[in-house]
Amino acid sequence: MGVVVCNVETVFNIAGAMKGSAVTDRYMTVAGEVANPMVVKVPLGSLVSEVIEFAGGPTIPDFRVIDGGPLMGRVLTDTDRPITKTTSGIIVLPPDHNVVTGKIKDPDKLRRLTRVVCCQCTRCTDLCPRSLLGHQLRPHMLMRSLGKNMEHAEIRKEALLCSECGICEKFACPMMISPREVNAQIKRELAKENVRWQPSGKELKNHPFRELRQVPTSRLMQRLDVARYDTHPELAEREFKPSVVKIALHQHIGAPAVATVTEGDPAKKGDLVGEVPEGALGAKVNASIDGTVLSVASGVVTIKAK
Ligand code: SF4
Ligand code: SF4
Repeated sequence: MGVVVCNVETVFNIAGAMKGSAVTDRYMTVAGEVANPMVVKVPLGSLVSEVIEFAGGPTIPDFRVIDGGPLMGRVLTDTDRPITKTTSGIIVLPPDHNVVTGKIKDPDKLRRLTRVVCCQCTRCTDLCPRSLLGHQLRPHMLMRSLGKNMEHAEIRKEALLCSECGICEKFACPMMISPREVNAQIKRELAKENVRWQPSGKELKNHPFRELRQVPTSRLMQRLDVARYDTHPELAEREFKPSVVKIALHQHIGAPAVATVTEGDPAKKGDLVGEVPEGALGAKVNASIDGTVLSVASGVVTIKAK
């Protein structure tokens, strides 16, 4: 189409980069079971646990945190994870919430379950947004190939076209199984085998029923049981100041950055802490707060706030 579509924060950051400013902060949403859901500007590397406390803390004793949205986000294994350049929001949910339980199904169990349960109703393909755009992605066929325990090589490759949007898993499938998760597993396997999708070169044509098969957002939110968290929170009035940041040296496409600081170095917000390796594609990484470098280990620069 000759068009590049960017979100507002990306455009904002590009404008900053053109003036020589590094990306050191991230605007993100904190939603779900927190006392004060909010949008907040967070220094990169801030811990999820501190951000949740800033939003008034969890309103339930036991909870899980989704990094991202309810459909495509992933369940964090612990809340000491840092916020990265790609964190757009977190959702705090009860451990037995529909969104959480669907995402932590054991992958092997899911595959076994699929073989037994899929009734080949084709609803996953009927409602798949990529299929409706004309891509050759037929999740029901992928599921059938698992059912026959033969995983046809050509059909298996169709998984590469899956955007992992989750409509099949969370809306379409009457048996509550997950073509999305199966596709994600197959994609990981194909990546290891270095298999890539070869476009046919044919022009894509929308499915004739595409307009009629779009999923209403309000219905989807009800099905996911997240409508009660749709509170449209405001930007936080107070500034969020983390006690410590853990800045990952690999938050981007390409090679991880190489640390340019060592333990005990002073750090000022915006200072370079990771450089693009010689001759590689990558991105620089900068300190997001003023403080002292506590450690550089396992690809993470930890800075304690002043
Ligand atoms: S997760 Fe993949 S297969 Fe399922 S609806 Fe979305 S694009 Fe289609
Ligand atoms: S919607 Fe569910 S049961 Fe129906 S074909 Fe797809 S995976 Fe199988």
